[in-house]
Amino acid sequence: MSIDTSLPPSSGLSLEAGQPYPYQRVELVEPDWTRFPGWKDVTAEEWASVQWQRAHCVKNVRQLRELMGDLVDERFYADLERDQAERATMSMLVPPQMMNTMLPQAVPAGPGSFTEELYADPVRHYMIPVFSDRRTDWSSHPHATRDSLHEHDMWVAEGLTHRYPTKVLAELLPTCPQYCGHCTRMDLVGNSTPVIEKLKFTAKPVDRLDSMMDYLRRTPQVRDVVVSGGDVANMPWPRLEDFLTRLLEIDNIRDIRLATKALVGLPQHWLQPEVRAGVERVAGVARERGVSIAIHTHANHANSITPLVAEATRAMLDAGIRDVRNQGVLLNGVNADPHALLDLCFRLLDGAQIMPYYFYMCDMIPYSEHWRVSVADAQRLQHHIMGYLPGFATPRIVCDVPFVGKRWVHQLASYDEVRGISHWTKNYRTSIEATQSDALSKTYEYYDPIHTLPAEGQAWWAEHGDLDTSALKAAEVAEASRRMAALQAY
Ligand code: SF4
Repeated sequence: MSIDTSLPPSSGLSLEAGQPYPYQRVELVEPDWTRFPGWKDVTAEEWASVQWQRAHCVKNVRQLRELMGDLVDERFYADLERDQAERATMSMLVPPQMMNTMLPQAVPAGPGSFTEELYADPVRHYMIPVFSDRRTDWSSHPHATRDSLHEHDMWVAEGLTHRYPTKVLAELLPTCPQYCGHCTRMDLVGNSTPVIEKLKFTAKPVDRLDSMMDYLRRTPQVRDVVVSGGDVANMPWPRLEDFLTRLLEIDNIRDIRLATKALVGLPQHWLQPEVRAGVERVAGVARERGVSIAIHTHANHANSITPLVAEATRAMLDAGIRDVRNQGVLLNGVNADPHALLDLCFRLLDGAQIMPYYFYMCDMIPYSEHWRVSVADAQRLQHHIMGYLPGFATPRIVCDVPFVGKRWVHQLASYDEVRGISHWTKNYRTSIEATQSDALSKTYEYYDPIHTLPAEGQAWWAEHGDLDTSALKAAEVAEASRRMAALQAY
């Protein structure tokens, strides 16, 4: 069964207006956190404190129960416990700010009264996944892998992925202030779960960052660095500033992008006076050197965009950050319909001055099938959101194709919609393909969720569902290439 990506006339207003999407400017609101029994006495001063926020993150079922009390039925807690034991690839970590964007209008009305709303809540769907959310037929795609984008295979120094010709991804640290259930870097980021033993960086942090710098200094074709993790908000500011300052001394670096979901999940971090002052220093140096420094954040639903998020964004723009852009993830149950995507984009743009930029299709990691949508649905969603936003703020829906990289969803070379296999080409070599003569002529595959396929396609996968030998071979080749690249880097 496929998700509904059509835009039916949904209200009198939309029919009157004659448009499938009835745009209305919406004022941002910070939901009242005292509706949760555990926070009924929390003051505005405490709420604004990043220390208070970090100390009161919800990290386990016990803490969620303390927060919600009997407003949520035991069956929800049991569902969550089972998910954590049998399916979760990310441990639980939800800052109060994010928690407060769930059930924003809920009014306590006795035991169990929050249960159904919590089950249906879009932010809960990806921040606190429960067992009953997941597919029981095909919970993982046969081609799902831990490092689905093969970023580690393309490490040229530990944590530095060189996938595109002119840009690199620097994973400075493996932690975030919040953990998203669908995290694409679930192989590395966060604490181990009963299901996933996380990969650990082996080098000391200081040595890792030095190795990254060495590589960037001796690789002048790299001009653009995504400074990521994890989330850079978890790096003590002086260490992040030191890294950025050293980066700005490398002449070939012209673009720096700081990746932080915390701007949305924990805006209190970016509102700290010492962080604002530090950003201003770094942005000042960047401006002098003609380098563009931007923040890329990650919001998946309009409910996450509150006045505090707008305030933190304003603070960053005032400090000299050139632009704040959003890279959301397209997730069934969260935002995979045209109204939800447009609501989010307008909330970002009108309310918080954040530029809608990308929506990534959810990657093929284990147990993600209930979140993923097919390429065909992603194409339809792209079609439905065109024309409402300014062109410069119309997000592209992209598929991150293994061994290829980001492609607009309409860019595929061919598509078998029965088996849900799309084929993609590319126009550059990644760092592990220097000697592969067919890298630019062959096609690379991406797979739709099997439960979205017609019966014939599902039957085909039932027969051929084991990981095939070619995928195993590709993984072996990639691992050998990664080792070779790592050796060459030292
Ligand atoms: S913030 Fe980003 S890196 Fe961190 S858990 Fe979420 S998706 Fe993963």
